[in-house]
Amino acid sequence: AVRLTSVHKSYGDYEALKDIDLEVQSGEKVIICGPSGSGKSTLIRCINRLEAHSSGQIVVDGIELDGDTKHLAAIRKDVGMVFQQFNLFPHMTVLENLVLAPMRVRGTSRAAAEAMALALLERVRIPEQAHKYPAQLSGGQQQRVAIARALCMKPRILLFDEPTSALDPEMISEVLDVMVELAREGMTMICVTHEMGFARKVADTMVFMDQGRIVEKAPALQFFDAPENPRTRLFLDQIL
Ligand code: ATP
Ligand code: MG
Repeated sequence: AVRLTSVHKSYGDYEALKDIDLEVQSGEKVIICGPSGSGKSTLIRCINRLEAHSSGQIVVDGIELDGDTKHLAAIRKDVGMVFQQFNLFPHMTVLENLVLAPMRVRGTSRAAAEAMALALLERVRIPEQAHKYPAQLSGGQQQRVAIARALCMKPRILLFDEPTSALDPEMISEVLDVMVELAREGMTMICVTHEMGFARKVADTMVFMDQGRIVEKAPALQFFDAPENPRTRLFLDQIL
């Protein structure tokens, strides 16, 4: 579970997050949407401390993100992240990308890490790509490698920041299909996306952000059928 209480984040004078309260239960799927610059990436990056919040409290699986490096290491083991720009290591094969963290961080043996990596490539439906380099793969394939790489660490929580927005349209569904399966298997997911078809399929809770604040947070059905805030309505009208 993840709990944010009165979280603020400033970049210099600029307040990117203002008084964020958010609770995500174990197994819950939360989808975050909102206009550009509203703080979605900042919010998600604070949850594994790629950005440090300025004030307030963030607790992940009972451990507070408070600057203590032991706490951070424990949380990073539990929280996987998938980025818009894949962020694979270009000089390593797919398999090497996948085994690196389990071997270094978890101390898994190479044989065990490779077996797990191959099983995960099977799961994201690209077992035949194991020995290629990222540049030899399509965007959709690279993003599925990135998902498999996150899963290699056996995370309990997965964070996604617009995982399909850098993809050509014909590759979006192959990535979303994998994410839908993960969602059905009970993974806790916090996902920034504007793919509202996907959101309707998997979201328990929808969050709409604007100007650094959570403007609306509601069960998915209610959010789509009867959003309360006029800004949410306007946003949904624009993108749906
Ligand atoms: P988008 O939909 O374009 O990805 P977003 O909702 O993810 O937008 P953020 O990237 O979280 O928005 O940015 C929120 C605000 O904080 C923006 O005004 C942005 O310019 C600012 N910001 C983000 N990162 C930094 C940074 N490292 N330094 C200074 N300002 C930043
Ligand atoms: Mg962003």
